[in-house]
Amino acid sequence: MGRVYNFSAGPAVLPEEVLVRARDELLDWCASGMSVMEMSHRGKEFVSIARKAEADLRELMAIPAHYKVLFLQGGATAQFAAVPMNLLRGKRKADYVNTGHWAKRAMAEARKYCEVHVAASAEDRNFSYVPPQDRWSLSPDAAYVHITSNETIGGVEYHWIPDTGDVPLVADASSHILSRPIDVTRFGLIYAGAQKNIGPAGLTIVIVREDLIGSALPITPSIFDYKVQADNESMLNTPPTFAIYIAGLVFEWIKDKGGLAAMERINAEKARLLYDFLDASDFYATPVAKADRSRMNVPFTLRNPALDEEFLRQAKERGLVQLKGHRSVGGMRASIYNAMPIEGVQRLVEFMREFAHKHG
Ligand code: PMP
Repeated sequence: MGRVYNFSAGPAVLPEEVLVRARDELLDWCASGMSVMEMSHRGKEFVSIARKAEADLRELMAIPAHYKVLFLQGGATAQFAAVPMNLLRGKRKADYVNTGHWAKRAMAEARKYCEVHVAASAEDRNFSYVPPQDRWSLSPDAAYVHITSNETIGGVEYHWIPDTGDVPLVADASSHILSRPIDVTRFGLIYAGAQKNIGPAGLTIVIVREDLIGSALPITPSIFDYKVQADNESMLNTPPTFAIYIAGLVFEWIKDKGGLAAMERINAEKARLLYDFLDASDFYATPVAKADRSRMNVPFTLRNPALDEEFLRQAKERGLVQLKGHRSVGGMRASIYNAMPIEGVQRLVEFMREFAHKHG
């Protein structure tokens, strides 16, 4: 079988050009006679790879010099704990906006370290929207405000940046980082697991404003202390070298394609194709409020769930895979990250149209 169109939510599709280059360089990286996997993380070859990856990410996202960029491990889940451990800075409370599954996971972890105040929640309508800021109740004494800027399971995305005044805004951007330009200066901290839009699982990116670090709780493990990691250029211990290398290739790929503005144009077009089709259909439905629909993760259902298995089977036959929705919500979900070509979405829509025609 050739390569399929992979709609997985993560680990997810990577750009084919990146995989081909990694294959070509696998046994011998740049005449070093070694695979990147075999290099010392402190040797000049790997240090050059890591520095270039950081420089390219800074350029892509226009990250100012007073922000640190950390390459960590433990996934976004580790950051659910690391964020309060590092950012409480003597305060006792943090504000969280509850938009669904991942926001709840972040809150549950933070409760081990501080008082979590739910500033707003979309639970009243089954997490199908982003609560508008005029309905938030922010605490003046909060250490930070945490949002999940794209809910990977619910398919709900912020298309605006909240204004939290002097209180730092923290975003779990795992599933839409690099999908469009964002103004980093509006955030105190942005974190993301790599396995959706960045590269292989095992790498976690943290972008944090310098003045917020350096007062971690005394119990903070050194590997999750942003100041310690920043002082050690994210190499307090052995970093996930191969994942950093692949992330670097993905950053180069995005630059070659025209950067984040180009990503946004293509992503908007892909999402429009799929949502327009869903909106015009009686056979399928999608639950999310139009203004808050994710461009990355598109959940949808068949009006007749008895057809779900048949839908997935026939899709797979066409090389359209990993469309099953998250086990907690059921239905379907098409994740259409940067590396999903528009042809993949066109093929999906074509298949969905035919399936509806046959079974409607
Ligand atoms: N936050 C979001 C928005 C996610 O989508 C995920 C993973 N799907 C996580 C956090 C957890 O990430 P990890 O598995 O990297 O810990």
